[in-house]
Amino acid sequence: MGASVGGQPQPPWVSLATGADHTCAAELSRVEGVAGHGLTGYRRGVPVILHADMDAFYASVEQRDRPELRGRAVIVGGTSSRGVVTAASYEARRFGVRSAMPTVQARALCPDAVFLHGDMAKYRRVSAEIRRIFTTISPDVEPLSLDEAFIDITASQRLLGPPLAIGRLLRDRVRAATGLTVSVGIGPGKMVAKIASDLAKPDGLLEVPADRVAAFLHPLPAWRLWGVGPVTEAALARAGITTIGQLAARPAAELAPFVGGAAADHLVRLACGQDARVVEPDLAAKSYGEEGTFAADARHDRRVREAIIGHADAVARRLRHDCVRGRVVVLKLKLAERLGPGKFRLLTRRVTLPEPTDDGKTISDAALRLWERHRPRLAVRLVGVSAAGIVGDAPEQLGLFAAGAHLRHAALNRALDAIVGRFGMQSIGRGDAGRSEKGLTTRLKRGE
Ligand SMILES: [Mg+2]
Repeated sequence: MGASVGGQPQPPWVSLATGADHTCAAELSRVEGVAGHGLTGYRRGVPVILHADMDAFYASVEQRDRPELRGRAVIVGGTSSRGVVTAASYEARRFGVRSAMPTVQARALCPDAVFLHGDMAKYRRVSAEIRRIFTTISPDVEPLSLDEAFIDITASQRLLGPPLAIGRLLRDRVRAATGLTVSVGIGPGKMVAKIASDLAKPDGLLEVPADRVAAFLHPLPAWRLWGVGPVTEAALARAGITTIGQLAARPAAELAPFVGGAAADHLVRLACGQDARVVEPDLAAKSYGEEGTFAADARHDRRVREAIIGHADAVARRLRHDCVRGRVVVLKLKLAERLGPGKFRLLTRRVTLPEPTDDGKTISDAALRLWERHRPRLAVRLVGVSAAGIVGDAPEQLGLFAAGAHLRHAALNRALDAIVGRFGMQSIGRGDAGRSEKGLTTRLKRGE
């Protein structure tokens, strides 16, 4: 029997016992949280990846801290006419509100919702606490964002028991320490684990043993696969493919005319459950980014430059807070050219610095040079700055001449951080920067 959550059809084996670990066995009655035949699927040498994802994170933190918001539709995000939703409580999702949706649209769908700007500093504190708990079940934690991580628990089984027990332990620890719920998916690869946590939401746990991957994936719609966005989904539909199972059954060569050769190979492999990507706890693949949509499209050089400086300073503060440095600076521009509903032309340009940095001015200088070199003729809707190529804090050998300037900057940065820490982000900034409408789009994520 199919069921639905928020209007989304769910595969028949997902039982929707909200508030409990999900029972996901089609044939079996109530084997807690295992898709298929119980605990026989794990073998020696088969990796066990856990994906943990906090439920409606920012909105849940607000509901936790403000009891009057519990049970109400809460929407966190930009509240200007051009803001976007960064988190919506499950009460709001019932009305069709989703993250990344324009706030205007969310207001129309759910006019009685409580709209909040949110408190990024608080969410970061909670995020740090959650990460600490993640590392109690395994040292191999790869954060994807403030509220989401892959955790390799292959080796943890000897100490903590079978995967399902580890998932339950993690959920209990997060709830006990933060009062918040986290959904957990477990599988032999990253993609399956992530899909499983998605299907377990909210407040659920779903395990997919290695020998049940095909049975788990095949009934799902093709868009569940990584890399299948609306364009690829439409192309696959033209090839007569709507489910992952249909995709797995087709030779890649047959799909190539529809999606291109490389994508066809990749998608068929994923559809067959082949996903060899490992959890990467190292920092190198991460990036620290800040971005914001202008209240009105920016047509003047000065506005964009100010925003770039503000974002660069914020990125640098976060790098320093985490005791890391970035070697690559990325400038992201969304232009006021509409490509489709809610879609705008996007430009990203990057530069590698001579040495990694955590200094706002170094980052903004690099981003401003990118802006000068690639400045578009169209007005700018959104600007973002991020630092990638992240390394630990041990300063690499500095050139003799760079050292003096570096030390002066470091002292200044420490003083600025102390002031911002005490009086908040609005208290200080270079020039007008820092007071722009940055919204709540701060991110720390991979592969940007
Ligand atoms: Mg989440």
